[in-house]
Amino acid sequence: MNEAWNDFTHEHGPGIQGRREILKSAAAVFAAPMLAGVAEGAQSPQHASAAAKGPFPARAYGVAGAKAPFAPMRIERRALRPNDVLIDILYCGICHSDIHIARGEWGTSRFPCVPGHEIIGRVQAVGSSVTKFKAGDMAGVGCIIDSCGVCENCQADLEQYCVKGWTLVFNTPDRVSGGLNFGGYSDKLVVAEHYGIRIPPGADLAATAPLLCAGITTFSPLQHWKVGANQRVGVAGLGGLGHLAVKLAVARGADVTVFTTSPGKVDDARRLGARAAVQWGDAEAMKRLENQLDLIISTVPKGYSIQPFVNLLKVDGTFVNVGALDDLEPLSGRALISRRRNVAGSVIGGIAETQQVIDYCAARNIKADIELIRPDQISQAHDRVVNKDVRYRFVIDMSSSKEAA
Ligand SMILES: [Zn+2]
Ligand SMILES: [Zn+2]
Repeated sequence: MNEAWNDFTHEHGPGIQGRREILKSAAAVFAAPMLAGVAEGAQSPQHASAAAKGPFPARAYGVAGAKAPFAPMRIERRALRPNDVLIDILYCGICHSDIHIARGEWGTSRFPCVPGHEIIGRVQAVGSSVTKFKAGDMAGVGCIIDSCGVCENCQADLEQYCVKGWTLVFNTPDRVSGGLNFGGYSDKLVVAEHYGIRIPPGADLAATAPLLCAGITTFSPLQHWKVGANQRVGVAGLGGLGHLAVKLAVARGADVTVFTTSPGKVDDARRLGARAAVQWGDAEAMKRLENQLDLIISTVPKGYSIQPFVNLLKVDGTFVNVGALDDLEPLSGRALISRRRNVAGSVIGGIAETQQVIDYCAARNIKADIELIRPDQISQAHDRVVNKDVRYRFVIDMSSSKEAA
């Protein structure tokens, strides 16, 4: 995802339906010993977690500043609220936006910064009001961990467009305490159950993690624009998002054309299921494809000249940008008018839709192509993503840090 805008407002209002009641009960639980509010471990619900009593330390990998390398650090996770789950993190994907934020490239970074929003782990403990998870379950966490819960967008399962601003898993303040949030490059995470995603039994956990950002980011436009069999879909950029866009569009029966700057990825595009792959700047191929495509998903993480791609849209076709936050170049009004073309944007998806992509992919064995790394390789992996040297998503094996620490 690309979450550079931080229109976060420090709201204390209720979030998901019934949050006000939950908050009330939270106060009651804090007044009484918190011990009663938490069940930990599938076999021993009577043993309360130390995490329930107050904020607790966790291990993490983060940067102290925009120019600093990744290093182990201690962070604090909040005490469990009644509707919270404590997750023992097993895997976390590396998204390009982790890099933008860790390097201070969007001007919104807060340090220290612990990125990571493609998180999968095992539920270690749950608050007293939790019904969605029990200890021992596998849970995923994507980009959003809170929103106002009452605005028209939140009510429509579009938490990512909350009018009061979303709360992200890292780099935004906690909506209740105001403390800075830290992401999934860590051994533990506390999150409200509503924002946890159920991971089906038998899922390939490491290769499922990238679905929580890269997967939902490309699934959501395919859903919204109702892509189906025999439609022609273009995917611009073949990286972490792009390779999942190809797999997800092919799964719907679409005829997919990939546009890539990397000559070495042309064969890969076909292996992933695309019917055609076009090298960036191939004017002849672009001419041939004019007025042919129904939907183009642009995963390119920076601004570029999109006019040549808009020209590929047929009548009512849509170019949807999911990658770039920079300015897109001026567009020809004539090119839009002449085919009733649309230019749109889309960011991740709501929680219900994120659950949907996880279930959809589990049922069809769709997963990310990943390279598993240790936490001490994060800085190097970030460099390699910038150099387009990853096929196609790095995933950090957080369990290896537990042995080392
Ligand atoms: Zn992301
Ligand atoms: Zn809202």
